[in-house]
Amino acid sequence: MLNLYNTESRVKELVELKEGQKALTLYTCGPTVYNYAHIGNFRTYVFEDLLRRTIKYFGFPLIQVMNLTDVEDKTIKGALEEGLALTAYTRRYKEAFFEDLKTLHIEPVEMVCSATDSIAEMIEMIEILLEKGIAYTGKDGGIYYSIKHFPSYGRLSHLKLEDLKEGASERVSDDDYDKESAADFVLWKPYDPKRDGEVFWDSPFGKGRPGWHIECSAMATHHLGETIDFHIGGVDNIFPHHENEIAQSEGCSGKRFVRHWMHAQHLIVDGKKMSKSLGNFYTLRDLLAKGYTGEEVRYLLLSTHYRTQLNFTFEGLEAARQTLIRFSAFVHRLRIVQCIEGPPLDDQIERCRTSFKRALGDDLNISEALASLFELIKQVNALIDEEKVSKSEAEKVLGFLEGLNTVLAVLPLQEKVVDIPPEIQEAFEKRQAARASKDWAEADKQRDFIQSQGFTLEDSFSGSRIKKRALS
Ligand SMILES: [Zn+2]
Repeated sequence: MLNLYNTESRVKELVELKEGQKALTLYTCGPTVYNYAHIGNFRTYVFEDLLRRTIKYFGFPLIQVMNLTDVEDKTIKGALEEGLALTAYTRRYKEAFFEDLKTLHIEPVEMVCSATDSIAEMIEMIEILLEKGIAYTGKDGGIYYSIKHFPSYGRLSHLKLEDLKEGASERVSDDDYDKESAADFVLWKPYDPKRDGEVFWDSPFGKGRPGWHIECSAMATHHLGETIDFHIGGVDNIFPHHENEIAQSEGCSGKRFVRHWMHAQHLIVDGKKMSKSLGNFYTLRDLLAKGYTGEEVRYLLLSTHYRTQLNFTFEGLEAARQTLIRFSAFVHRLRIVQCIEGPPLDDQIERCRTSFKRALGDDLNISEALASLFELIKQVNALIDEEKVSKSEAEKVLGFLEGLNTVLAVLPLQEKVVDIPPEIQEAFEKRQAARASKDWAEADKQRDFIQSQGFTLEDSFSGSRIKKRALS
Protein backbone atom coordinates (compact mmCIF):
# COMPACT_ATOMS: atom_id res chain seq x y z
CA MET A 1 0.00 0.00 0.00
CA LEU A 2 1.31 3.38 -1.00
CA ASN A 3 0.37 6.25 1.29
CA LEU A 4 1.56 9.77 0.49
CA TYR A 5 1.21 13.05 2.33
CA ASN A 6 -1.04 15.60 0.66
CA THR A 7 -0.05 19.25 1.21
CA GLU A 8 -3.66 20.32 0.86
CA SER A 9 -5.36 17.87 3.26
CA ARG A 10 -2.26 17.65 5.49
CA VAL A 11 -2.68 13.90 5.91
CA LYS A 12 -1.27 10.81 4.22
CA GLU A 13 -3.62 9.45 1.60
CA LEU A 14 -3.80 6.06 -0.07
CA VAL A 15 -2.81 6.03 -3.73
CA GLU A 16 -5.19 4.13 -5.96
CA LEU A 17 -6.49 4.09 -9.50
CA LYS A 18 -10.07 5.20 -9.89
CA GLU A 19 -12.42 2.75 -11.56
CA GLY A 20 -11.63 2.46 -15.26
CA GLN A 21 -8.52 4.62 -14.90
CA LYS A 22 -5.53 3.30 -16.86
CA ALA A 23 -2.73 5.39 -15.41
CA LEU A 24 -2.06 7.94 -12.70
CA THR A 25 -1.36 11.42 -14.00
CA LEU A 26 1.33 13.66 -12.58
CA TYR A 27 2.32 17.20 -13.43
CA THR A 28 5.67 18.67 -12.44
CA CYS A 29 6.58 22.35 -12.55
CA GLY A 30 9.84 22.18 -14.44
CA PRO A 31 12.67 24.69 -14.44
CA THR A 32 12.64 28.29 -15.58
CA VAL A 33 15.36 28.00 -18.19
CA TYR A 34 17.30 31.20 -17.60
CA ASN A 35 20.41 29.74 -15.94
CA TYR A 36 21.93 26.44 -14.73
CA ALA A 37 19.76 24.75 -12.12
CA HIS A 38 21.29 24.65 -8.61
CA ILE A 39 21.39 21.82 -6.09
CA GLY A 40 18.33 23.20 -4.30
CA ASN A 41 16.37 22.79 -7.55
CA PHE A 42 17.77 19.30 -7.97
CA ARG A 43 16.73 18.36 -4.46
CA THR A 44 13.17 18.81 -5.72
CA TYR A 45 13.79 16.95 -9.00
CA VAL A 46 15.45 14.01 -7.19
CA PHE A 47 12.45 13.84 -4.82
CA GLU A 48 10.15 13.85 -7.83
CA ASP A 49 12.18 11.06 -9.39
CA LEU A 50 11.97 9.00 -6.20
CA LEU A 51 8.22 9.57 -6.15
CA ARG A 52 7.86 8.61 -9.81
CA ARG A 53 9.96 5.46 -9.44
CA THR A 54 8.12 4.48 -6.25
CA ILE A 55 4.71 4.87 -7.88
CA LYS A 56 5.90 2.54 -10.64
CA TYR A 57 7.52 0.15 -8.12
CA PHE A 58 4.09 -0.20 -6.54
CA GLY A 59 2.77 -1.25 -9.93
CA PHE A 60 0.87 1.88 -10.98
CA PRO A 61 1.11 2.95 -14.62
CA LEU A 62 2.02 6.63 -14.73
CA ILE A 63 1.93 9.51 -17.19
CA GLN A 64 4.08 12.40 -16.05
CA VAL A 65 4.27 15.75 -17.78
CA MET A 66 6.97 18.27 -16.98
CA ASN A 67 6.97 21.79 -18.36
CA LEU A 68 9.83 24.09 -19.20
CA THR A 69 9.14 27.72 -18.37
CA ASP A 70 10.82 29.35 -21.33
CA VAL A 71 8.83 32.59 -21.42
CA GLU A 72 8.72 34.54 -18.19
CA ASP A 73 10.28 37.74 -16.74
CA LYS A 74 13.70 36.17 -16.12
CA THR A 75 14.15 34.39 -19.47
CA ILE A 76 13.23 37.54 -21.40
CA LYS A 77 15.55 39.69 -19.30
CA GLY A 78 18.42 37.23 -19.78
CA ALA A 79 17.91 37.02 -23.54
CA LEU A 80 17.77 40.81 -23.88
CA GLU A 81 20.93 41.26 -21.83
CA GLU A 82 22.82 38.84 -24.04
CA GLY A 83 21.28 40.18 -27.25
CA LEU A 84 19.95 36.72 -28.15
CA ALA A 85 16.60 35.54 -29.46
CA LEU A 86 14.56 34.00 -26.64
CA THR A 87 14.71 30.51 -28.18
CA ALA A 88 18.48 30.62 -28.64
CA TYR A 89 18.94 31.79 -25.07
CA THR A 90 16.64 29.20 -23.45
CA ARG A 91 17.90 26.34 -25.65
CA ARG A 92 21.28 26.47 -23.91
CA TYR A 93 19.71 26.00 -20.48
CA LYS A 94 17.19 23.43 -21.64
CA GLU A 95 20.02 21.27 -22.97
CA ALA A 96 22.08 21.77 -19.81
CA PHE A 97 19.09 20.82 -17.68
CA PHE A 98 18.58 17.50 -19.48
CA GLU A 99 22.28 16.72 -19.24
CA ASP A 100 22.10 17.34 -15.49
CA LEU A 101 19.04 15.11 -15.13
CA LYS A 102 20.95 12.32 -16.84
CA THR A 103 23.97 12.82 -14.58
CA LEU A 104 21.66 12.45 -11.56
CA HIS A 105 20.00 9.29 -12.99
CA ILE A 106 16.67 11.09 -13.08
CA GLU A 107 14.39 9.07 -15.31
CA PRO A 108 12.93 10.84 -18.36
CA VAL A 109 9.24 11.62 -17.96
CA GLU A 110 6.59 10.68 -20.52
CA MET A 111 6.22 14.19 -21.86
CA VAL A 112 8.07 17.48 -21.69
CA CYS A 113 6.38 20.64 -22.93
CA SER A 114 7.59 24.20 -23.35
CA ALA A 115 5.40 27.14 -22.43
CA THR A 116 6.06 28.74 -25.83
CA ASP A 117 4.38 25.74 -27.51
CA SER A 118 1.11 26.20 -25.59
CA ILE A 119 0.31 29.91 -25.98
CA ALA A 120 -2.97 29.12 -27.79
CA GLU A 121 -4.23 27.01 -24.86
CA MET A 122 -3.31 29.81 -22.45
CA ILE A 123 -5.25 32.39 -24.48
CA GLU A 124 -8.23 30.06 -24.56
CA MET A 125 -8.26 29.72 -20.75
CA ILE A 126 -7.99 33.49 -20.29
CA GLU A 127 -10.95 33.96 -22.64
CA ILE A 128 -13.06 31.59 -20.52
CA LEU A 129 -12.08 33.39 -17.31
CA LEU A 130 -13.03 36.73 -18.89
CA GLU A 131 -16.38 35.34 -20.07
CA LYS A 132 -17.12 34.06 -16.58
CA GLY A 133 -16.29 37.43 -15.06
CA ILE A 134 -13.43 35.99 -12.98
CA ALA A 135 -10.83 37.91 -14.97
CA TYR A 136 -10.85 41.58 -15.90
CA THR A 137 -8.84 44.09 -17.90
CA GLY A 138 -6.60 46.28 -15.78
CA LYS A 139 -5.80 49.96 -16.35
CA ASP A 140 -2.48 48.96 -17.94
CA GLY A 141 -4.35 46.84 -20.52
CA GLY A 142 -3.26 43.59 -18.90
CA ILE A 143 -5.70 40.83 -17.96
CA TYR A 144 -5.90 40.04 -14.24
CA TYR A 145 -7.43 37.28 -12.14
CA SER A 146 -9.83 38.54 -9.50
CA ILE A 147 -9.20 36.39 -6.45
CA LYS A 148 -12.36 37.58 -4.69
CA HIS A 149 -14.28 35.66 -7.35
CA PHE A 150 -12.69 32.40 -6.21
CA PRO A 151 -13.91 31.84 -2.64
CA SER A 152 -11.61 28.94 -1.83
CA TYR A 153 -8.50 30.95 -2.77
CA GLY A 154 -5.79 30.15 -0.21
CA ARG A 155 -6.92 26.61 0.57
CA LEU A 156 -3.66 24.93 -0.53
CA SER A 157 -1.34 27.24 1.36
CA HIS A 158 -3.85 27.37 4.24
CA LEU A 159 -4.01 31.15 4.15
CA LYS A 160 -7.28 32.43 5.55
CA LEU A 161 -9.29 34.74 3.35
CA GLU A 162 -9.35 37.35 6.15
CA ASP A 163 -5.55 37.40 5.95
CA LEU A 164 -5.84 37.94 2.23
CA LYS A 165 -8.35 40.76 2.26
CA GLU A 166 -5.88 43.50 2.94
CA GLY A 167 -3.87 42.92 -0.21
CA ALA A 168 -6.73 41.52 -2.21
CA SER A 169 -7.54 44.77 -3.96
CA GLU A 170 -3.97 45.08 -5.20
CA ARG A 171 -2.73 43.89 -8.54
CA VAL A 172 0.64 42.40 -9.36
CA SER A 173 2.09 41.92 -12.77
CA ASP A 174 5.36 40.32 -11.66
CA ASP A 175 5.54 36.60 -12.29
CA ASP A 176 6.94 35.90 -8.85
CA TYR A 177 5.64 38.15 -6.12
CA ASP A 178 5.80 38.72 -2.41
CA LYS A 179 4.93 35.53 -0.57
CA GLU A 180 3.22 37.51 2.18
CA SER A 181 0.63 39.32 0.13
CA ALA A 182 -2.27 37.90 -1.79
CA ALA A 183 -3.30 40.00 -4.75
CA ASP A 184 -5.00 39.85 -8.10
CA PHE A 185 -2.38 38.43 -10.41
CA VAL A 186 -1.64 38.86 -14.06
CA LEU A 187 -2.84 36.42 -16.73
CA TRP A 188 -1.79 38.37 -19.80
CA LYS A 189 0.84 41.10 -19.89
CA PRO A 190 0.43 43.81 -22.51
CA TYR A 191 3.44 44.18 -24.80
CA ASP A 192 6.13 46.54 -23.58
CA PRO A 193 8.96 46.84 -26.13
CA LYS A 194 11.39 48.03 -23.48
CA ARG A 195 10.74 45.06 -21.23
CA ASP A 196 9.93 42.39 -23.82
CA GLY A 197 12.19 43.12 -26.81
CA GLU A 198 10.82 41.06 -29.68
CA VAL A 199 8.89 38.64 -27.47
CA PHE A 200 5.11 38.91 -27.93
CA TRP A 201 2.11 37.04 -29.29
CA ASP A 202 -1.10 38.34 -30.82
CA SER A 203 -4.25 37.67 -28.86
CA PRO A 204 -7.88 38.84 -28.60
CA PHE A 205 -6.63 41.09 -25.76
CA GLY A 206 -3.88 42.60 -27.87
CA LYS A 207 -0.18 41.98 -28.30
CA GLY A 208 1.48 40.58 -25.22
CA ARG A 209 2.56 37.48 -23.39
CA PRO A 210 1.15 35.16 -20.73
CA GLY A 211 1.86 35.41 -17.01
CA TRP A 212 3.80 32.53 -15.47
CA HIS A 213 0.90 31.00 -13.49
CA ILE A 214 -1.48 30.55 -16.44
CA GLU A 215 1.24 28.67 -18.31
CA CYS A 216 1.16 25.69 -15.94
CA SER A 217 -2.65 25.62 -15.70
CA ALA A 218 -2.93 25.51 -19.48
CA MET A 219 -0.22 22.90 -20.04
CA ALA A 220 -1.37 20.61 -17.22
CA THR A 221 -5.00 20.71 -18.36
CA HIS A 222 -4.17 20.40 -22.04
CA HIS A 223 -1.96 17.33 -21.65
CA LEU A 224 -3.49 15.57 -18.65
CA GLY A 225 -7.13 16.69 -18.47
CA GLU A 226 -9.15 18.94 -16.16
CA THR A 227 -8.46 16.83 -13.07
CA ILE A 228 -5.04 15.37 -12.45
CA ASP A 229 -3.92 12.96 -9.75
CA PHE A 230 -0.64 14.52 -8.62
CA HIS A 231 0.88 17.95 -8.91
CA ILE A 232 4.30 18.33 -7.37
CA GLY A 233 7.07 20.85 -6.86
CA GLY A 234 9.14 22.59 -4.20
CA VAL A 235 7.59 24.30 -1.15
CA ASP A 236 8.45 27.62 -2.80
CA ASN A 237 5.79 26.88 -5.40
CA ILE A 238 2.90 26.51 -2.95
CA PHE A 239 2.20 30.21 -2.76
CA PRO A 240 1.52 31.99 -4.99
CA HIS A 241 2.20 29.71 -7.97
CA HIS A 242 0.21 26.58 -7.11
CA GLU A 243 -2.51 28.54 -5.34
CA ASN A 244 -2.96 30.55 -8.54
CA GLU A 245 -2.95 27.42 -10.68
CA ILE A 246 -5.89 26.06 -8.67
CA ALA A 247 -7.79 29.35 -8.99
CA GLN A 248 -7.25 29.51 -12.76
CA SER A 249 -7.93 25.85 -13.57
CA GLU A 250 -10.96 25.44 -11.32
CA GLY A 251 -12.24 28.88 -12.29
CA CYS A 252 -12.29 27.61 -15.88
CA SER A 253 -13.49 24.04 -15.53
CA GLY A 254 -15.57 24.20 -12.35
CA LYS A 255 -13.95 20.85 -11.46
CA ARG A 256 -11.33 19.83 -8.95
CA PHE A 257 -7.91 20.51 -10.54
CA VAL A 258 -5.58 18.33 -8.46
CA ARG A 259 -6.34 15.43 -6.13
CA HIS A 260 -2.97 15.23 -4.46
CA TRP A 261 -0.33 17.94 -3.96
CA MET A 262 3.21 17.13 -2.86
CA HIS A 263 6.10 19.50 -2.13
CA ALA A 264 9.77 19.04 -1.27
CA GLN A 265 11.30 21.13 1.52
CA HIS A 266 14.19 23.55 1.05
CA LEU A 267 17.84 22.72 0.79
CA ILE A 268 20.23 24.82 2.87
CA VAL A 269 24.04 24.79 2.79
CA ASP A 270 26.03 24.53 6.04
CA GLY A 271 22.95 25.62 7.93
CA LYS A 272 22.45 28.77 5.85
CA LYS A 273 20.24 29.79 2.98
CA MET A 274 22.12 29.15 -0.26
CA SER A 275 23.06 32.42 -1.93
CA LYS A 276 25.66 33.73 -4.33
CA SER A 277 26.62 36.51 -1.93
CA LEU A 278 27.46 34.01 0.83
CA GLY A 279 29.63 32.00 -1.57
CA ASN A 280 27.68 28.82 -0.76
CA PHE A 281 25.77 28.58 -4.03
CA TYR A 282 26.33 25.40 -6.05
CA THR A 283 25.10 24.15 -9.37
CA LEU A 284 25.47 20.44 -10.11
CA ARG A 285 28.31 21.41 -12.45
CA ASP A 286 30.18 23.07 -9.56
CA LEU A 287 30.12 19.80 -7.63
CA LEU A 288 31.21 17.73 -10.65
CA ALA A 289 34.12 20.16 -11.12
CA LYS A 290 35.14 19.41 -7.54
CA GLY A 291 35.41 15.72 -8.46
CA TYR A 292 32.09 14.40 -7.14
CA THR A 293 29.91 12.14 -9.27
CA GLY A 294 26.25 12.36 -10.21
CA GLU A 295 25.55 9.19 -8.18
CA GLU A 296 27.13 10.71 -5.07
CA VAL A 297 25.09 13.89 -5.40
CA ARG A 298 21.95 11.86 -6.14
CA TYR A 299 22.48 9.71 -3.07
CA LEU A 300 22.95 12.76 -0.85
CA LEU A 301 19.83 14.49 -2.20
CA LEU A 302 17.82 11.26 -2.05
CA SER A 303 18.67 10.12 1.44
CA THR A 304 16.94 12.87 3.44
CA HIS A 305 13.15 12.64 3.64
CA TYR A 306 11.59 15.07 1.21
CA ARG A 307 9.50 16.88 3.83
CA THR A 308 12.57 17.59 5.97
CA GLN A 309 14.89 20.50 5.29
CA LEU A 310 18.11 19.14 3.78
CA ASN A 311 21.34 20.59 5.12
CA PHE A 312 23.92 20.16 2.37
CA THR A 313 27.54 19.88 3.55
CA PHE A 314 30.69 18.53 1.96
CA GLU A 315 31.01 16.11 4.89
CA GLY A 316 27.60 14.80 3.90
CA LEU A 317 28.78 14.41 0.33
CA GLU A 318 31.87 12.52 1.54
CA ALA A 319 29.62 10.23 3.58
CA ALA A 320 27.51 9.60 0.46
CA ARG A 321 30.72 8.66 -1.36
CA GLN A 322 31.63 6.16 1.38
CA THR A 323 28.17 4.57 1.23
CA LEU A 324 28.42 4.13 -2.54
CA ILE A 325 31.86 2.54 -2.12
CA ARG A 326 30.24 0.11 0.32
CA PHE A 327 27.51 -0.71 -2.24
CA SER A 328 30.14 -1.25 -4.91
CA ALA A 329 32.22 -3.53 -2.71
CA PHE A 330 29.13 -5.59 -1.90
CA VAL A 331 28.12 -5.97 -5.55
CA HIS A 332 31.68 -6.93 -6.42
CA ARG A 333 31.81 -9.58 -3.67
CA LEU A 334 28.54 -11.10 -4.90
CA ARG A 335 29.90 -11.28 -8.44
CA ILE A 336 33.09 -13.13 -7.52
CA VAL A 337 31.54 -15.68 -5.13
CA GLN A 338 32.94 -19.13 -5.99
CA CYS A 339 31.11 -21.49 -3.60
CA ILE A 340 28.92 -24.12 -5.23
CA GLU A 341 26.85 -24.91 -2.14
CA GLY A 342 25.20 -22.76 0.46
CA PRO A 343 21.89 -22.26 2.29
CA PRO A 344 19.10 -20.37 0.52
CA LEU A 345 18.94 -16.62 1.15
CA ASP A 346 15.24 -16.27 0.38
CA ASP A 347 14.33 -15.32 3.95
CA GLN A 348 16.86 -12.49 4.10
CA ILE A 349 15.77 -11.23 0.68
CA GLU A 350 12.07 -11.39 1.55
CA ARG A 351 12.59 -9.53 4.82
CA CYS A 352 14.44 -6.79 3.00
CA ARG A 353 11.84 -6.62 0.24
CA THR A 354 8.99 -6.33 2.74
CA SER A 355 10.59 -3.64 4.89
CA PHE A 356 11.91 -1.68 1.89
CA LYS A 357 8.46 -1.57 0.34
CA ARG A 358 6.68 -0.85 3.62
CA ALA A 359 9.03 2.09 4.25
CA LEU A 360 8.55 3.62 0.81
CA GLY A 361 4.81 3.06 1.07
CA ASP A 362 4.84 5.21 4.21
CA ASP A 363 5.21 8.58 2.48
CA LEU A 364 8.60 7.68 0.93
CA ASN A 365 10.39 6.92 4.19
CA ILE A 366 13.75 6.63 2.48
CA SER A 367 15.88 6.31 5.64
CA GLU A 368 14.05 3.16 6.67
CA ALA A 369 14.10 1.82 3.13
CA LEU A 370 17.87 2.29 3.00
CA ALA A 371 18.24 0.81 6.50
CA SER A 372 16.63 -2.41 5.27
CA LEU A 373 19.16 -2.56 2.44
CA PHE A 374 22.08 -1.97 4.86
CA GLU A 375 20.75 -4.79 7.03
CA LEU A 376 20.71 -7.18 4.07
CA ILE A 377 24.24 -6.16 3.13
CA LYS A 378 25.41 -6.79 6.69
CA GLN A 379 23.82 -10.24 6.85
CA VAL A 380 25.01 -11.39 3.44
CA ASN A 381 28.53 -10.00 3.96
CA ALA A 382 28.80 -12.01 7.17
CA LEU A 383 27.75 -15.17 5.29
CA ILE A 384 30.24 -14.47 2.48
CA ASP A 385 32.96 -14.13 5.15
CA GLU A 386 32.06 -17.63 6.29
CA GLU A 387 31.99 -18.88 2.68
CA LYS A 388 28.33 -19.80 3.06
CA VAL A 389 27.00 -17.96 -0.01
CA SER A 390 26.75 -20.02 -3.19
CA LYS A 391 27.11 -18.65 -6.70
CA SER A 392 23.41 -19.16 -7.42
CA GLU A 393 22.30 -17.45 -4.19
CA ALA A 394 24.66 -14.54 -4.92
CA GLU A 395 22.96 -14.16 -8.29
CA LYS A 396 19.59 -14.20 -6.58
CA VAL A 397 20.71 -11.32 -4.37
CA LEU A 398 22.04 -9.42 -7.40
CA GLY A 399 18.71 -9.91 -9.16
CA PHE A 400 16.91 -8.60 -6.09
CA LEU A 401 19.18 -5.54 -5.96
CA GLU A 402 18.21 -4.78 -9.54
CA GLY A 403 14.61 -4.46 -8.39
CA LEU A 404 15.58 -2.06 -5.58
CA ASN A 405 17.69 -0.12 -8.03
CA THR A 406 14.66 0.67 -10.19
CA VAL A 407 13.81 2.98 -7.28
CA LEU A 408 17.21 4.02 -5.93
CA ALA A 409 19.27 4.18 -9.13
CA VAL A 410 22.56 4.39 -7.21
CA LEU A 411 23.71 0.75 -7.17
CA PRO A 412 26.49 -0.09 -9.65
CA LEU A 413 24.55 -2.71 -11.61
CA GLN A 414 25.13 -2.29 -15.29
CA GLU A 415 22.96 -3.29 -18.17
CA LYS A 416 24.12 -5.11 -21.26
CA VAL A 417 22.65 -4.23 -24.62
CA VAL A 418 21.74 -7.38 -26.53
CA ASP A 419 20.25 -8.17 -29.93
CA ILE A 420 16.58 -7.27 -30.18
CA PRO A 421 14.29 -9.93 -31.74
CA PRO A 422 12.05 -8.75 -34.63
CA GLU A 423 8.72 -9.09 -32.74
CA ILE A 424 10.05 -6.84 -29.98
CA GLN A 425 11.32 -4.37 -32.55
CA GLU A 426 7.88 -4.33 -34.17
CA ALA A 427 6.12 -3.71 -30.84
CA PHE A 428 8.63 -0.94 -30.17
CA GLU A 429 7.80 0.79 -33.44
CA LYS A 430 4.06 0.48 -32.81
CA ARG A 431 4.58 2.05 -29.40
CA GLN A 432 6.52 4.95 -30.90
CA ALA A 433 3.71 5.60 -33.37
CA ALA A 434 1.08 5.39 -30.60
CA ARG A 435 3.02 7.82 -28.42
CA ALA A 436 3.36 10.23 -31.31
CA SER A 437 -0.41 10.25 -31.74
CA LYS A 438 -0.97 10.39 -27.95
CA ASP A 439 -2.73 7.01 -27.98
CA TRP A 440 -1.58 6.16 -24.47
CA ALA A 441 -3.66 2.99 -24.17
CA GLU A 442 -2.03 1.48 -27.25
CA ALA A 443 1.42 2.70 -26.20
CA ASP A 444 0.95 1.04 -22.80
CA LYS A 445 -0.22 -2.19 -24.40
CA GLN A 446 2.93 -2.40 -26.53
CA ARG A 447 5.12 -1.48 -23.58
CA ASP A 448 3.54 -4.20 -21.43
CA PHE A 449 4.18 -6.74 -24.18
CA ILE A 450 7.82 -5.65 -24.51
CA GLN A 451 8.31 -5.87 -20.75
CA SER A 452 6.59 -9.26 -20.52
CA GLN A 453 9.27 -10.57 -22.89
CA GLY A 454 12.06 -9.55 -20.52
CA PHE A 455 12.98 -6.24 -22.13
CA THR A 456 12.81 -2.74 -20.75
CA LEU A 457 12.18 0.55 -22.46
CA GLU A 458 14.30 3.56 -21.87
CA ASP A 459 12.81 6.89 -22.91
CA SER A 460 15.09 9.83 -23.28
CA PHE A 461 14.92 13.15 -25.01
CA SER A 462 16.90 11.88 -27.95
CA GLY A 463 14.37 9.07 -28.37
CA SER A 464 13.46 5.69 -26.92
CA ARG A 465 15.36 2.44 -26.96
CA ILE A 466 14.94 -1.15 -25.81
CA LYS A 467 17.25 -3.02 -23.52
CA LYS A 468 17.40 -6.54 -22.23
CA ARG A 469 17.78 -6.40 -18.49
CA ALA A 470 20.83 -8.42 -17.52
CA LEU A 471 23.66 -8.22 -15.05
CA SER A 472 27.09 -7.54 -16.39
ZN1 LIG B 1 4.19 25.53 -12.53
